[in-house]
Amino acid sequence: MAAIYAFMLRPVEAKSFLVTFDIQIIGGGLAGSEAAWHLAEAGLRVRLSEMRGGGDSTPAHETDRLAEMVCSNSFRSDDAEHNAVGLLHQEMRALGSLIMRAADKHRVPAGSALAVDREGFAAEVTRAVEQHPNVTVVRERVDALPDHSTIIATGPLTGSALAEAIAAETGEGALAFFDAIAPIVHRDSIDMDVAWMAARWDKGGKDYINCPLDKAQYDDFVAALVDGDKMPFHDWEKDTPYFEGCMPIEVMAERGSETLRHGPMKPVGLDNPRTGRWPYAVVQLRQDNALGTLWNMVGFQTKLKHGEQVRIFRTIPGLENAEFARLGGIHRNSFINSPRLLDSELRLESRPNIRFAGQITGCEGYVESAAVGLIAARFAAAELRAETLPAPPPETALGAILAHITGGADAETFQPMNVNFGLMPPLPGRSRKADRKKAYTDRARAAFAEWLERLMVSEPA
Ligand SMILES: Cc1cc2nc3c(=O)[nH]c(=O)nc-3n(C[C@H](O)[C@H](O)[C@H](O)COP(=O)(O)OP(=O)(O)OC[C@H]3O[C@@H](n4cnc5c(N)ncnc54)[C@H](O)[C@@H]3O)c2cc1C
Repeated sequence: MAAIYAFMLRPVEAKSFLVTFDIQIIGGGLAGSEAAWHLAEAGLRVRLSEMRGGGDSTPAHETDRLAEMVCSNSFRSDDAEHNAVGLLHQEMRALGSLIMRAADKHRVPAGSALAVDREGFAAEVTRAVEQHPNVTVVRERVDALPDHSTIIATGPLTGSALAEAIAAETGEGALAFFDAIAPIVHRDSIDMDVAWMAARWDKGGKDYINCPLDKAQYDDFVAALVDGDKMPFHDWEKDTPYFEGCMPIEVMAERGSETLRHGPMKPVGLDNPRTGRWPYAVVQLRQDNALGTLWNMVGFQTKLKHGEQVRIFRTIPGLENAEFARLGGIHRNSFINSPRLLDSELRLESRPNIRFAGQITGCEGYVESAAVGLIAARFAAAELRAETLPAPPPETALGAILAHITGGADAETFQPMNVNFGLMPPLPGRSRKADRKKAYTDRARAAFAEWLERLMVSEPA
């Protein structure tokens, strides 16, 4: 049975009575609320520490409710047949997700998307967690890494003292405060009759996909970047320094027509095998996951609006039919380098009493954050009962996002990621796009059902 931990409540000294619990969760957002529910349902006593309602907040949250949705009210597509996030919804429902139950109950019309009445949704989650007999919700800010069993689910706007403690434990540069995301392209949508594989000066392996531009194409491209519609920064993001090493391409383009050709679009040392010469400019893509299905556009972090990115990047030779696993962006976002720091069960390698869950692990989005909260809790519950939980297979949506953040992603270029089919092992052969999506979800459902069966055998009744 789990160890029982006892400690004084902080920071409200007046309430200094002893509380016993099996595990502490820090952060009552989408991930922390989901995690608390699963641990409590497993019969474990949970202390859920949430700083909102205790005198602190984040720049984006507006209420004291658990699981507040800070921006859009959408959980994105609910299509479990053709969409990876819809598939993740389905898997979470099958696992008894509180977030999905509350979302379904407070659904509002939004076509094939799952959008919710955000107030009803958050009130429902808050009520369910607060009323669970195994959960104690404590409105407190946590500033240090605990020594007992803990899940940290403090999200993209983690309190600064705790963020510093995480950075100190994990090492310099292992906790990012901004994501600077370059677009990521599905490998099988790149036209390799135009692009070619090579490394600069033929050094090392032919590791990069290179897309060549002539002068006219380059000039048009730079003009499109300068003219394209951009996303503004939030007021509270403006003062956070991010520029070193991750300047948006449109800012480089604004500095002069040659800037990009001397930066990420430098053609030097790249012989195009079709012409025997260096192109005028080049866009390079580098492998982004161990499966080799996703490739990131090197140095192409951007604040261009998503529609503009698709329009402008499809003018690059070789990317005319590019499908984007995710588009570029730059936001304030605390996240750790999970592929380097976490083991396959989301434990910090250097301090295995601590697990991470939610957006701070480098998954992206409400649904993915809740899903990682769910699986972190299941792993923690198994560990506290001295059992082992088999990991969800990588063919499933849950297994794919978990495998990505705990090792499948390249630690050097790690940036937050939504669930998508490119995170799953590739399907054999080629097929039409619509058929392929269905084939991914059919395979995922079979793998998930098999995994569930194994769980039922290993979980006590
Ligand atoms: C401005 C903004 C807009 C976004 N828009 C969207 C969107 O439209 N769609 C989408 O899918 N995703 C969006 N996201 C991402 C979104 O934040 C995550 O998808 C989701 O909220 C992450 O869930 P989480 O549980 O990891 O973090 P959160 O939901 O942020 O929960 C973390 C919780 O931890 C608490 N906390 C932090 N530090 C401490 C501490 N030291 N002690 C105690 N408690 C602490 C916070 O108060 C918060 O309640 C947005 C993020 C931001 C910042």
